Amino acid sequence: MESAEIRRRWLRFFEERGHTVVPSASLIADDPTLLLVPAGMVPFKPYFLGEVKPPFPRATSVQKCVRTPDIEEVGKTTRHGTFFQMCGNFSFGDYFKEGAIKYAWELLTTPVADGGYGLEPEKLWITVYLDDDEAERIWRHVIGVPAQRIQRLGKTENYWSMGVPGPCGPCSEINYDRGPEFGVEGGPAVNDERYVEIWNLVFMQYERGAGEGKEDFPILGDLPSQNIDTGLGLERLAMILQGVQNMYETDTLRVVIDKATELTGVRYGASQNTDVALRVVADHMRTSTMLIGDGVTPGNEGRGYVLRRIMRRAIRNMRLLGATGPVVAELLNVVIRTMGQQYPELLTDRQRIETVALAEEAAFLKALKGGTNILDTAVTETKSAGGTVLSGDKAFLLHDTWGFPIDLTLEMAAEQGLSVDEDGFRRLMKEQRERAKADAKAKKTGHADLSAYREVADSVGETEFTGYTLTE
Ligand code: ATP
Ligand code: MG
Ligand code: MG
Ligand code: MG
Repeated sequence: MESAEIRRRWLRFFEERGHTVVPSASLIADDPTLLLVPAGMVPFKPYFLGEVKPPFPRATSVQKCVRTPDIEEVGKTTRHGTFFQMCGNFSFGDYFKEGAIKYAWELLTTPVADGGYGLEPEKLWITVYLDDDEAERIWRHVIGVPAQRIQRLGKTENYWSMGVPGPCGPCSEINYDRGPEFGVEGGPAVNDERYVEIWNLVFMQYERGAGEGKEDFPILGDLPSQNIDTGLGLERLAMILQGVQNMYETDTLRVVIDKATELTGVRYGASQNTDVALRVVADHMRTSTMLIGDGVTPGNEGRGYVLRRIMRRAIRNMRLLGATGPVVAELLNVVIRTMGQQYPELLTDRQRIETVALAEEAAFLKALKGGTNILDTAVTETKSAGGTVLSGDKAFLLHDTWGFPIDLTLEMAAEQGLSVDEDGFRRLMKEQRERAKADAKAKKTGHADLSAYREVADSVGETEFTGYTLTE
């Protein structure tokens, strides 16, 4: 079943059951707490929080999502993309646990000829939250799933919360058993690659209070209404229904891999390392295209930096695969052709997307050339002085003058046997930010505020994500 058909069936199923079809919101979240939309519920947040009265009691959508923290998994696990589409159904104080569970089961197991996805019930494994007896009872006695295919999981896996105070509640997830070729048996609690998580049902029913960290917080009481928020990964279901090994081989991504192999001459399947690189290219080019499509432009901060790092990582991987010239135009073209079916704005906006993407590629290729010279000289100097660590100064210079993301410097230094003084690099980055702040203030007030300079020394921030590595 093609991705487009999976999407159509999803929306039709829930529309026929009284849900209002809501188009995907932009990836640029209309929410100051989020850089990009990571889940289908985000556009509905004000309804869940009770800030806005929902205009309908039930809704369904297929939402574009970006999860940058998953970048390290891309190409290595079979199921994580930085961009993916989350199919969701939502109830705002309307149906609750039993309704959500029944819908999910019906849609997944109804035969393809009758409008469902036709999954075999015996391959579906259920997880419920530790003390959620009610959910387990529904799965066992209303649906008829045998006890041995229901597992209980703790807070990390099966509990959802948002904000303090904010709504929270237990989840129940549906996982698909892909069989022994994907590893040992024992259910999703034991093996999350074989028993791949496809659908998360969140039962939003309590209000949480402040607590220590993410998992240790008190429940203040019941919410005024009980809500449902679910999310199914379209690419994950496509991977199962199309009988392929991983999400990158599904219809909308495989064509990008094929284009990358054509451009590099590296056959998909030639080696583990090159396969990971090809999947990274496919995923990252798609994510970049979707981000530019929604109006993000490459830059050194915020969303722009997310885009820059993802796009530069795609280009860099193409070069590691052997490409020497520009590659973006052709890869982009394939993404726009396939994703344009679902998102026609990609087609109407093609010119603008191309202009932005090609400019970034040109800038990066130039930077790579200039930066590589600086790096090579620095590496030679470091080595001849008997050192093994590239200085924070050099990493900062590469970032500042050539836009080298730190993970690129890390990888290129590692290829020559050196590590990098990351703390030093971050200190300099912080100093630069503070300087910019102080300068802006000086412009306003007419004199420099020196206090900003003094705060600099101590801080070491976390990088948002790392990894330019082909091998690990
Ligand atoms: P996992 O445990 O596999 O990382 P998750 O628990 O983080 O998934 P949820 O936050 O529950 O995922 O999101 C709901 C659904 O969205 C998941 O069940 C999955 O089908 C899909 N999904 C989540 N993250 C990704 C991703 N990075 N790429 C593709 N699909 C995803
Ligand atoms: Mg995850
Ligand atoms: Mg999970
Ligand atoms: Mg989950």
